[in-house]
Amino acid sequence: MQKRYYFILVIFFFSAQNSWSQQPKKPNAVELYNQIQKLNFLGSVLYIAAHPDDENTRLIAYLSNDIKAETGYLSLTRGDGGQNLIGPELREQLGVIRTQELIEARKIDGGKQFFTRANDFGFSKNPEETLQIWDKDQVLSDVVWTIRTFQPDVIINRFDHRTAGTTHGHHTSSALLSVEAFDKVNDPTFYPSQLAYTTIWQPKRLFFNTSWWFYGSKEKFDASDKSKLTKLSIGTYYASLGKSNQEIAALSRSRHQSQGFGSTGSRGEEDEYLEFLKGAAPNDSNNLFEGIDTSWNRVPNGKPIGELLAKVESNFDFKNPSASVPDLVKAYSLIQELESSHWKTIKTEEIIKIIAGCSGLYLEATTDVQEITPGSTLKVKLEVTNRSATSMKLMDTASVPVYKANEKIIELKNNVPYTATNELEIPADFEYTNAYWLKQSGTVGMYRVDNQKSIGHADVFRQIALLFYIEIYGTLIPFTKEVVYKYNDDVKGEVFQPLDVVPLATSAIAEKVYIFNNDHSKTLTVKVKAGKDNVNGIVRLDLPTNWKVSPASIPFTIDKKDQEVMAVFTVSPSNEASEISIKSVVTIDGNDFTQNKIEINYPHIYKQMVLKPAEARGIRLKIKTKNEKIAYIMGVGDEVPKSLMQMGYEVKVLKAEEITAEGLKDFDVVMTGIRAYNVDNALAFKQSILLDFVKNGKTMIVQYNTTDDLVTKNLAPYPLKISKDRVTEEHAEVRFLAPKNAVLNYPNKITAEDFKGWKQEQGLYYPNEWDSHFTPILSANDTGEKPKDGALLLAEYGKGTYIYTGLSFFRELPEGVPGAFRLMANLIAIGK
Ligand SMILES: [Zn+2]
Repeated sequence: MQKRYYFILVIFFFSAQNSWSQQPKKPNAVELYNQIQKLNFLGSVLYIAAHPDDENTRLIAYLSNDIKAETGYLSLTRGDGGQNLIGPELREQLGVIRTQELIEARKIDGGKQFFTRANDFGFSKNPEETLQIWDKDQVLSDVVWTIRTFQPDVIINRFDHRTAGTTHGHHTSSALLSVEAFDKVNDPTFYPSQLAYTTIWQPKRLFFNTSWWFYGSKEKFDASDKSKLTKLSIGTYYASLGKSNQEIAALSRSRHQSQGFGSTGSRGEEDEYLEFLKGAAPNDSNNLFEGIDTSWNRVPNGKPIGELLAKVESNFDFKNPSASVPDLVKAYSLIQELESSHWKTIKTEEIIKIIAGCSGLYLEATTDVQEITPGSTLKVKLEVTNRSATSMKLMDTASVPVYKANEKIIELKNNVPYTATNELEIPADFEYTNAYWLKQSGTVGMYRVDNQKSIGHADVFRQIALLFYIEIYGTLIPFTKEVVYKYNDDVKGEVFQPLDVVPLATSAIAEKVYIFNNDHSKTLTVKVKAGKDNVNGIVRLDLPTNWKVSPASIPFTIDKKDQEVMAVFTVSPSNEASEISIKSVVTIDGNDFTQNKIEINYPHIYKQMVLKPAEARGIRLKIKTKNEKIAYIMGVGDEVPKSLMQMGYEVKVLKAEEITAEGLKDFDVVMTGIRAYNVDNALAFKQSILLDFVKNGKTMIVQYNTTDDLVTKNLAPYPLKISKDRVTEEHAEVRFLAPKNAVLNYPNKITAEDFKGWKQEQGLYYPNEWDSHFTPILSANDTGEKPKDGALLLAEYGKGTYIYTGLSFFRELPEGVPGAFRLMANLIAIGK
């Protein structure tokens, strides 16, 4: 008997996609009624685009809430390449935040979230470049996989596959891959290895969700011929919810907090337009699902289920939802008798939730710890409360990862809670919690995920759960609850957070990059953190033998979980120019722990943890530096001053309002941070002081500003016009326009070698027009484009030098790119 239960459990474990919201859902009667209506609609739509925020939440909310369709959003990337408006996380950690923001957005608009393995590597001008940096074959495979597993009747592309070059290359690529997938997804010879886990599938039709944006202006779009377009009126007012469709969409969009996409809902009629691209053309231009049976009749033997559930829908009693439970349970049994199918899985998940909701069944599985280490025992508190007259018996509970049954049968009487505590052994080899796409290192363009079945899944897999086997009106139904951490916060009240499985100890090296520009040693601080109480061990640094570290290891003792200790090492570089990896290794009872635990905690998402190798880079440079004192005026924020200090310069970060002619006297160079002239109004009033500083024989270096409003028209001593020119291909060949210029020769000889290993891009917002006083130094361009000569411009002004550069020093220096350091040293040394 128990074996049989366990079997059910395993199946549920892997099929349940978005069903484990951490906060227990407590649906009201209106929400339950909407769920029942949705139970009676068997049709699905997949929306495809490239980034978190590309999706049209108005359309997703409409499809999910008005049409009641299964609605998916496949975002090819997790948005790892963008800016973060709420904190310091960038790249993969930003991808983790945006993943959670999308999951939260879908909870509001009712959609399901999917991703591919593609990495949002940064701006790309065209799909050719995008599909080269992404592994096109892998991304296409993931699009095909998502279609085969989600089985949409209709696919809608956000972008136009015919207009390469007019938008981000990722955007056009998403549409191109969707079109290609649509044609081949039903071919069993296409990605045949996927068919071990899924089936071929042919969506009925493919659309492009056009809008005024693709026409250049609202006026042009209003005037265009729309007779061939499918028109959906998405301005529904959901009276039972008290919200317009657009208001729901705005709430969903406002989850994108890291992008600052707070959105205000609107009301009233509004239309969305779809251009038919492929498949069976719709005759009725207002019905996406025309010719598709979206009733229970589409499932073999589904007819009686549809009839029964139609009765449940029409007899639904808003004052007593539990009156529907007997028929819902009958329908559940009928669904279980169906042959295995896509809709059987989806509708089983849905109806289980509806049965729980209608009977007021409250289930909870919580712990009072947020983290646990493998090999330890977890105490799980469970609660089962039946809050209706429904006949219910708790037959068994079981837990994963280790099966443990409770053999008592408990009668669940109306409004009498049953509580218990289960002890759950976490096996010593249990995997740590980590975003599955970050477990292995990928490439610039791709995350690496080897398990086909994980691909597409939005969230981190958390595999500690409790199963409740409850007999309702004689039918045994399994309910799954993820085990979560619950506590009471004096301010916020009841708080739920995910439970994480963590290493016994983690460590972190204080800086990401250490620059050694001479033979002097540096101190490296390592923080060691315990994952449980009473941890003793040693920590050491692992680096190549021609670098020296002392001491060889440092012992530590930590009494309390989450406490940290610091270990300080002295590292001396090798004499040769080199780049090394410095790893921190914690050893406890003969076992090595090499991971760094990064916590990501914001109020709008569940707390996330990322485990990464605990390492830093050590870079031995042989750069000649001149001019020692630099005044740095911060713009939107960058880490350039820290890198300059690592090179050995004396750097003072100044606010623009603090600038005085007298105060600058001691400095050799003034440098402005990225976008300083876009954001700091005070600079407008200090510009004459800065230009006089140059005139009197000093150097000013201005890093990139965007084409948005500048605080002054007199950015430079001579006319200069900033454009949107950029070189995004970081490996693009760099040509020297003024090879004899000191900036390429003194004190460091700059060669093509110095432009190797740059990250993400060469530079951005280069000027495209400048006065003849300026000397352009470098020229480069992306494949197929005209040369861009504005990356580095020098002008003598009075006795000094003014330098404007769009080169992305703000990215390259913190990443420890040697060539960027050498060139920066020459900029600083100019005029000496
Ligand atoms: Zn986008």
